[in-house]
Amino acid sequence: MGKIIDGKAMSTLVKDEVRAEVEAIRAAGGRIPCLCVIIVGENPASQVYVRNKVKAAAYTGIESRLIELPADTTEETLLGHIRALNADPAVDGVLVQLPLPEQIDQEKVLDAIDPAKDVDGFHPSNVAGLWIGKDCTVPCTPAGILRLIDSTGVALKGKQAVVVGRSNIVGKPVAKLLLDRHATVTIAHSRTADLGAVTRQADVLVVAAGRAGLVTGDMVKPGAVVIDVGMNRNADGKLCGDVDFASAEPVAAWITPVPGGVGPMTIAMLMQNTLRCYRRRAGR
Ligand code: NDP
Repeated sequence: MGKIIDGKAMSTLVKDEVRAEVEAIRAAGGRIPCLCVIIVGENPASQVYVRNKVKAAAYTGIESRLIELPADTTEETLLGHIRALNADPAVDGVLVQLPLPEQIDQEKVLDAIDPAKDVDGFHPSNVAGLWIGKDCTVPCTPAGILRLIDSTGVALKGKQAVVVGRSNIVGKPVAKLLLDRHATVTIAHSRTADLGAVTRQADVLVVAAGRAGLVTGDMVKPGAVVIDVGMNRNADGKLCGDVDFASAEPVAAWITPVPGGVGPMTIAMLMQNTLRCYRRRAGR
């Protein structure tokens, strides 16, 4: 029977760590870290994410600013906001909620954020930093996944790790983080022949494909650690992962549920990234 990795409890732990640090800064009379979130348009899912980010900031004591722009905002207007935040010494983190309306070039926007304030870790210089092993901001979801794996006590060194999915925000960075921990890493994707044969090799299996129930119990190696990143809606509108929990849980040693697994960790790691950006900028 798989033990459940409680992402909600773990995320509270991370947020409490951040809260204690912010409290210490406050007690020492320091400037409070500040995260600025920009949302363009009224995508309901984005609005929920942004609300949760602002809530988490309040919990940790991090100051937050929310800039809400209409759906017809031009690229130049958005870039103007980013330039102003880049130049504002009181702002430590700048996050633009994705996706953006189609008139705006996402790449241009991400490139415009000061890498020192890029709390999402999506700027090319942070991406390069991750791949060449420099001190940089690591994207929140992959960082949270590593923290969840660590919470099991399972050591990654020498293990076979399989990542299903090769996106820039989850698959590729999490593969690099696993590699940094000396796991032997395989990345599977939509053109992988015989996915099950690959996933069955995994001591640690991270699934980030965005396909409900893609990985079933027969595709899991007995005793594996299974991290389900997927956030999908099933036919009843219920949130579900990429892993078929009912069949995988009895096979795995450890498994994350959806909801209550990776999701809450992503937001907690955003708070940690904001604090780290603050400290780096403050030279501490
Ligand atoms: P993308 O759509 O950008 O990437 C999905 C990846 O999965 C691609 O590399 C794709 O392969 C691969 N894939 C798709 N179908 C299959 C298949 N049948 N077999 C094997 N591989 C497949 O998604 P993201 O990485 O952005 O997100 C993945 C999931 O994680 C989504 O459900 C998303 O909602 C969720 N998510 C959750 C977060 C959280 O905080 N919990 C944060 C970010 C994402 P190919 O490259 O060949 O197309």
